[in-house]
Parts: sequence; C-alpha cells; structure tokens
Amino acid sequence: MADSFSTDVIKDEEQLSFQGIEPALRLRVYSERQIDDIPQIRSLSQDQRFAMRVVAQVLPFRVNQYVLKELIDWEQVPNDPIFQMTFPQPEMLPEEHFTSIAELLRAGSTAETIRAKVREIQAQLNPHPGGQQDLNIPTHEGRYLPGMQHKYRQTVLFFPQQGQTCHTYCSFCFRWPQFVGRRDLRFAATDVQDLGRYLSAHREVSDVLVTGGDPMVMRARLLAAYLEPLLGHGFEHVTSIRIGTKSLTYWPYRYLTDDDADDLLHLLKRLVRAGKHVALMAHVTRGQELETEEVQEAVRRVRNTGAVIRTQAPLLAQVNDDASVWSHMWQTQVRLGMLPYYMFVERHTGPSAYFEVPLARGCEIYREAVGQISGLGRTVRGPSMSAGPGKVEVQGVAEISGNKVFVLRFIQGRNPAWVQRPFFAEYDEQATWLDQLRPAFGEKEFFFEPEYRRMLM
Ligand SMILES: *Cc1c(COP(=O)(O)O)cnc(C)c1O
Ligand code: SF4
Repeated sequence: MADSFSTDVIKDEEQLSFQGIEPALRLRVYSERQIDDIPQIRSLSQDQRFAMRVVAQVLPFRVNQYVLKELIDWEQVPNDPIFQMTFPQPEMLPEEHFTSIAELLRAGSTAETIRAKVREIQAQLNPHPGGQQDLNIPTHEGRYLPGMQHKYRQTVLFFPQQGQTCHTYCSFCFRWPQFVGRRDLRFAATDVQDLGRYLSAHREVSDVLVTGGDPMVMRARLLAAYLEPLLGHGFEHVTSIRIGTKSLTYWPYRYLTDDDADDLLHLLKRLVRAGKHVALMAHVTRGQELETEEVQEAVRRVRNTGAVIRTQAPLLAQVNDDASVWSHMWQTQVRLGMLPYYMFVERHTGPSAYFEVPLARGCEIYREAVGQISGLGRTVRGPSMSAGPGKVEVQGVAEISGNKVFVLRFIQGRNPAWVQRPFFAEYDEQATWLDQLRPAFGEKEFFFEPEYRRMLM
C-alpha cells in the first residue's frame, strides 16, 4: 500500500506560531508488519501480540505515534476504548477464521498460502454492505465515474484516489476493504477533472462531500486541485463543500505543523471567502480525543478559516455504548464550537459483530444522552443507518394502541419523497439493522419496499 502522506513537518521551532505545544513530530505510522516495534506494546503478553498479528492479516491495521502516546491510556489496556478502536482484537474474527490463520502463521506457511486464505475470509466478511459499489456509481457521457457516489439528489460523495488511506485506521471501519490492498474492492477517482465534469452537468447537486479514507492525508496542493475549480463559473449551484476526516483528532498536526498546514488552512479560507459553506465532518468517537492541547488548537485554527466543524461517529460496543460518554463528548464539542451532527449505527461488515449495539439500546443511549445536554447540542441526529434504501433514523420507541413499536424516518431516501415520512417497525430488542426489522401493525412490508425492489432491478 502506498504511504504517500503529507508528513514533512516543520522542524524549526521558530515557525510555530503558538505556545506550549511540542514542535512536531514527523508522522510515524506502524502497520501490521511493525506491530512488534510499537514500544507501548511490549507490556502485552506474547499471546496477545500473536492474536493481534493474526487479526491484522485480515483486517487493516495502522496507528500513529500521536494516538499511541496521547490518546491510549496504556494502564487501561486492553479495555481502553481508543485501544479497542485501533488495535486488532481476537474476537473481531469468527473463531474458525481466527484459528485457521493462527495455524498458518504457527506453521510458518508461505506468504502466498496465507494470502489465499486471507482473501477467502475477507470475501466472507460482507465487504460491500448496502450495494455501495454497483448501485450508486454515476456515469458521465456513458463512462463510469468510479470515484463518486450519487445516491441522494443534492449530495455527491467524492473519493479522491490519493485520499484513500488514513493517519490511523479504525478497527470498526466499514471502509476496511479499501485498506487491505485489494484494488478490486476499492473505488477512487483518478481523474482530477471528473468531479467538475460531473457537477457541471448536474445542477441539482448542492453539496459535495469529499471522503475516503481520509482526504486530509492529501497534500494541500492536491486537495486544492480538486476543489478550486468549484469556485469558478458554472458551479454556483454547488454551495457546500464538506470534507470527512478523522485527522482533527488523530493527527491534529495536519493543521499545526505539517509543512503544508498553512496552505491547507488557506485553502479552506479561500473556499469560504468564495461564498461556499465549508464543513469539516470530523469523526470523533470518544471525548478524550478532544482533550489535548494540540486538538483544541487545531479546532481553533480551522474555525478561524470560517469553516465549520460538524461531528459524527458510530455507536460501538467496547468503545462508546454509554450515554454519559456521548453527552460529555457533545458538551465538549459545543464548548469548542463544533456542531454534533450524526450518531451512526455500525454497518454489517468486517468485524461488526464485535461492535454492534442493538437498535433498541442505541435509542436509549441517544435519548438519555440528549436529555443531559442543552438544545445547542441537540443538532445531532439519533442512531442512523445508512442502508440500501436510504439513511434511516431510529427516532424512538412508542406504544401505539397496545403495540410497542420503533418510530423510524428517512433522513435521506433513494426517493426524496420518502424523506421525513414516519414509519413503524415492531419493537425488537435484538435487531441491529433495518433488514432485521418487521413492519408493525401486521403490515406485510414497509411502505418503500415495492419501489425499492423496482429500483434494484
Ligand atoms: C449521509 C450521506 C450523505 C449526506 O447526507 P446529509 O443528510 O446531507 O448529511 C450523502 N450521501 C450518502 C451516500 C450518505 O450516506
Ligand atoms: S478514519 Fe474514517 S475512513 Fe479512516 S479508518 Fe477511521 S473511520 Fe475509517
């Protein structure tokens, strides 16, 4: 996998325009082959380290020194939430898969033998939930544009090729197939001009969401090459530019001391000055990610450009399935000037069985957490599933004429007419995804299903 990071950082202390933060640190990442070089890992047992190596054959692993040093509390390992969301855990693989890889490693099998087994297992871990790969790829003049998804009318997702890795990988990430080196499981734009070509032909699109991976691993220059054309004539309809990223809390030096940090901030500022709404969609999974001085300075700098920071994260067992974790995190975000936006339900892919939280429990956590914060934090949408038909929010549990039901709504729908229309499913304590829910009141199917089936044909 290419390690083309924007990592050359300023080493000259005098160039640091703020006080109290160590002159950074060149990004150092450890991947699966270097697990044993991680100094903090040496306190773990031989067995624990071996188990990590086993899982890391199948699922992506990468961590940088900032996450290791500043975010993981090594006294709490293995229960530390940031450790859980970064390091491979044995239970992330079904037992038979774990055993077969462990045996191959113990037997000293060839790389080729291991790779073949790994591929076989990866294919069984539902690498493409929700038909992402085939259903939403747009075309322009008869040609597929593989680095884009256009599922909802107003918003185009854009995956620049150079932004398809991250400063650290999250062990729960549904984009895992992109990170395990399988080009056939990856979608990415290779042509800088495709985005502009597509958007100029689609006046209905108001929002571009640049995503990855993490587009903030890209050099500022390259990000500018993709985005600056949108400031020109013919793109007036594109009013919002969002960038999805975890760099804010996992590599805050991106906004402080990376050698093109200032260029990046200037780019955001130029987009804002040109009249666009610019939002960093910051992935923040736990409150402790917001505590370091580096992160808080990075937040200030981004906000100074005029860009807003909205936050989102999945609800995860082992990591944040606790109302007070969310309420504290949202309160901190509001205090720092960030806007809570989405709580996601973990998709069924990769190691999701390890992290999944039943929808019923998710609702409870959301309700309890929102109840503890003021209205300023209640901009956040409750547990939301990005499913095939659309983004469905579980709004709550109600009792209607003696039936206990989930109240659901589409936040986004493959058909815009579905949006906001409440619908009901039988209450189910165990269900973790839309496809496990059954319509309430004896209905045979949900209102959108006949139409959705036709769309799939
Ligand atoms: C969530 C999502 C969007 C953005 O939806 P908003 O409601 O505008 O935040 C766009 N495209 C896809 C595929 C999504 O899942
Ligand atoms: S930073 Fe985002 S894209 Fe990258 S691994 Fe984490 S969740 Fe996935």
